[in-house]
Amino acid sequence: MASINVKFPDGAEKQFDAGVTTEAIAKSISPSLAKRSVAGKFNDQVVDYRQPLTTDGNIEIIAADSDEGMAVLRQTAAQVLANAVKQLFPKVQFGSGEGNANGFFFDTDNPDAEGKQISEDDLEAISLKMQAIVKKDLPIVREVLSKDAALALVGDDPYQKDLVNDRAAANDGQVVVYKQGDFVDLSDGAQLASTGKVKIFKLLSVAGAYWQGKSSNPMLQRIYGTAFLKQKDLDEDLKKRQEARERDHRVIGNELDLFFVDPKVGNGLPYWMPNGATIRRQIERYIVDKEVANGYQHVYTPVLANLDVYKQSGHWDHYREDMFPPMDMGDGEQLELRPMNCPSHIQIYNHHIRSYRELPLRIAELGMMHRYEKSGALTGLSRVREMTLNDGHTFVALDQIEAEFKNILSLMVEVYKDFDISDYRFRLSYRDPANKAKYFDDDAMWEQSQKMLKSAMDDMGLDYFEAEGEAAFYGPKLDVQTKTALGGEETLSTIQLDFLLPERFDLKYVGSDGEEHRPVMIHRGLVSTMERFVAYLTEIYKGAFPTWLAPKQVTIIPVNKGAHGAYAETVRRRLAAENIRVSIDDRNEKMGYKIRESQTKKIPYLLVVGDQEVANGSVSVRKYGEERTESEGVDMFIGAITQEVKNYSRG
Ligand code: ATP
Ligand code: ZN
Repeated sequence: MASINVKFPDGAEKQFDAGVTTEAIAKSISPSLAKRSVAGKFNDQVVDYRQPLTTDGNIEIIAADSDEGMAVLRQTAAQVLANAVKQLFPKVQFGSGEGNANGFFFDTDNPDAEGKQISEDDLEAISLKMQAIVKKDLPIVREVLSKDAALALVGDDPYQKDLVNDRAAANDGQVVVYKQGDFVDLSDGAQLASTGKVKIFKLLSVAGAYWQGKSSNPMLQRIYGTAFLKQKDLDEDLKKRQEARERDHRVIGNELDLFFVDPKVGNGLPYWMPNGATIRRQIERYIVDKEVANGYQHVYTPVLANLDVYKQSGHWDHYREDMFPPMDMGDGEQLELRPMNCPSHIQIYNHHIRSYRELPLRIAELGMMHRYEKSGALTGLSRVREMTLNDGHTFVALDQIEAEFKNILSLMVEVYKDFDISDYRFRLSYRDPANKAKYFDDDAMWEQSQKMLKSAMDDMGLDYFEAEGEAAFYGPKLDVQTKTALGGEETLSTIQLDFLLPERFDLKYVGSDGEEHRPVMIHRGLVSTMERFVAYLTEIYKGAFPTWLAPKQVTIIPVNKGAHGAYAETVRRRLAAENIRVSIDDRNEKMGYKIRESQTKKIPYLLVVGDQEVANGSVSVRKYGEERTESEGVDMFIGAITQEVKNYSRG
């Protein structure tokens, strides 16, 4: 029999009969290794534990409790799910399904007589059916079919037909299927030996997902679940998911009526409702004031510009995929929605002859821009297609770079304090030394500016980590990485050095020597886009915005509308006159109900007014999240809340 040569991660090599399985290889090393492993990685491809190996190659053995091992467990669970769904809904059509490091899912299309699809109401029944399949401990078998056999298997399910055609085309006409007992489908990822091994699982939710991620395709219902080896791990994971849900800005955004996105009107194009708009307005006023106080000149520039501007800037060459297509105006003019504001601020710089005395020249704008993000990447407010960036560009002489960098950084740290943001990491993003061709070609510039950023950080005593290959193509940058509710990291603020755009647009200033010189540009965003920032704040505050940002700051509840309504109105007017966002709740509802509602709306202050308050000219104050109430004079309350807002404190 032919034999194959298998190489292990430690470099050792061994011969096996062709057709050997990963399981047999593991057993040949040690029975206990074989027992705690579930699959292999052969030439960097995950292979089923029982799949025959017929060529030479490198092998790694995948342990059951590794990320890749968990994906095998969850892949098995995904097919158990499909099997259960098929038994309960015999006419169901299937999209794709998979198991991965986060859980598993399967896409379904099953309109009933009223057009109603599988929903969360069905999860319990599906879960019970899955348990029955697990209990039967059906053997699982991987098979390779010809394209024709696979097409015969999937019948007239249009999605499965697509999948067969795609896979056969990518795999020499072969299609992998898995069998769990009598149930066969196009599941093709490595699985465990039998259904009985999926003991601990939980179905989580159902959400719409476009077939193949394209919004022009039909919407399928994606059933999500997860599976673990130990109950304790599942419990922990569910707790984490619950915590993430409580922080999810899309959920809170809906509860507090902050914003919405309606794919029918435009995917990734958010509508800011009055509550969200109020938060955004406070942030915008705050940041503009802060920047003006720190030497920035705020401008307004158009979102549209002639396409030639973006050809000159290099965006059209390097960034076209993320840009909306140009608008052909019919007379030879092509207008482009800007994906970035830099070229606009360059126009402002170039509108006058600049002198060294003006540098650093700081131009800032709440600049609206459009990026054609992939529909699958769009998430609530945190990744959108129309966004307004707290943008700024400073134009500096070479010897001013370091000082200006420090300036921007201290401003950023101040701003973070005001918003109570503390969980972040600084990342110095360098070019990839192994792939210099991807970057602006000037070794000396890269060496110097990377060193300069590092020494500025050291000087300021700030902690950072370094990341090669994360720089922009025009220069190195400092990114501020924050954690998201779902455990990922995203960039909030950034400071980027740029030696290239000043060349492209021939920027100049007249130096003290009377000669023309080239300035350097620093791109910087302090609080990111209004969209991502509000999403982020919503998550860190869990919707309980500090008083200075809260859409509504105070609710007044008269104990009795007839007896105390007029006094409530007097108090409201006095507060409103001090720019406090206040309203009266005199609906015909029980006091307890109104109090609870002001809690769920997370309104910072609740003022109750009754006989005693009317008599004393006071209010009974209850702060969000506290049980106790305190009686205060109206002036005292106004003084305290005004001070709190001024200090941006969270009270
Ligand atoms: P990303 O890598 O997140 O796509 P980027 O590096 O392209 O961002 P910049 O061009 O530096 O981003 O944009 C400045 C900031 O704008 C980013 O740091 C990010 O906080 C925010 N931002 C970028 N794209 C989006 C988007 N689609 N929706 C909301 N905010 C965004
Ligand atoms: Zn810029």
